[in-house]
Amino acid sequence: MSDSMLFWLSFYVLIFVFTAYIGYRTNNFVAGVLLGYVLGPIGLVLLLLSQDRKYGRCPYCSAKVHHQAYFCHQCEKKCYKKLRSRGGVYE
Ligand SMILES: [Zn+2]
Repeated sequence: MSDSMLFWLSFYVLIFVFTAYIGYRTNNFVAGVLLGYVLGPIGLVLLLLSQDRKYGRCPYCSAKVHHQAYFCHQCEKKCYKKLRSRGGVYE
């Protein structure tokens, strides 16, 4: 096995482990493992992008709140469909 092959193999394994770890942290372990295994670096990017869709920021206290939550767990104000994403107002 040549050195460059070994380099790319270890690079791929590193991406795979990192994607699985991100998936584990975001309660998407199976998706993380599959994305990392099938798509490699692309799967990692997809997983990082998909995080934003699951959680948003509370418009009152900026806490991280799940999009399906009706009340903010921190300030206990009604925040359903008012969550802000990183890019602006979440519809
Ligand atoms: Zn709040």
